[in-house]
Amino acid sequence: MTHPMTQLQDLSRSLRLAETAKELPSLIRKAEAHQWTYHELLYELLTYEQACREEKLITKLLKWARFPFQKTLDEFNIKEQRSISTKQLKQLRELLWMEEQYNLILLGPPGVGKTHIAIGLGLEAIYKGHQVSFIPMGELVHLLKTKEFSRKSQTSYKRIVDSDMVIIDDMMYMAMDSKEANLFFHLINELYDKTSIILTSNKGPDQWGELLGDQGITTAILDRLLHRVEVINIDEPSYRMKNRTTIFN
Ligand code: ADP
Ligand code: MG
Repeated sequence: MTHPMTQLQDLSRSLRLAETAKELPSLIRKAEAHQWTYHELLYELLTYEQACREEKLITKLLKWARFPFQKTLDEFNIKEQRSISTKQLKQLRELLWMEEQYNLILLGPPGVGKTHIAIGLGLEAIYKGHQVSFIPMGELVHLLKTKEFSRKSQTSYKRIVDSDMVIIDDMMYMAMDSKEANLFFHLINELYDKTSIILTSNKGPDQWGELLGDQGITTAILDRLLHRVEVINIDEPSYRMKNRTTIFN
């Protein structure tokens, strides 16, 4: 005869309560030891399953996001900045702008924290259960050009268009030919109105025309990107340079 506990564990597994199945003996022992009511036992059991699922989801979302490093907004030293106020950063991290499909453009020279802020916001979004994709512009162009024949690129592309937030890092560090600009336009068009895009760049939108080449495509891209956008200009000396360690003493 099957042991009653094994029976309950098998049942839990068949109902896809995998974590509960594992934890059941210990939960029941605790219930007996502390004389939990039926209500208390059920509550503990269900919240346990829920917490495990949330943890698994976040692990999956973090893997999918492909951040080059994980730095939070708490690690961002706002006192070093004059370009963003504490209040602005707080509003950004509340992510209400995401619900309205606002885009965010972070401009500034290298080393001022553009990528750090973008990743920090991406992490906040993931902790709220959103799907996020991070991709450097160079990789994005490669992916767009290869998605027709590479299954790997196709999977990455699908993950990007399914995301709630897409971070395109170092936009425009290189000039694009007209085919690349066209592919980029199609992506922006697909994301338009359903995804929040965060772009980091060392050049402002007024200079993007030169890099995208075709004026018509540039206008079409800017039209969609700038429809609902917040532009943050971080014009500071490089944090990296200011805080570098020295070999001299
Ligand atoms: P950018 O993308 O603007 O070139 P990064 O975001 O890569 O700059 O920042 C360069 C490095 O300096 C990173 O390690 C980042 O965490 C750090 N950094 C930049 N600004 C700050 C800041 N205000 N507080 C803490 N770390 C910062
Ligand atoms: Mg950067």
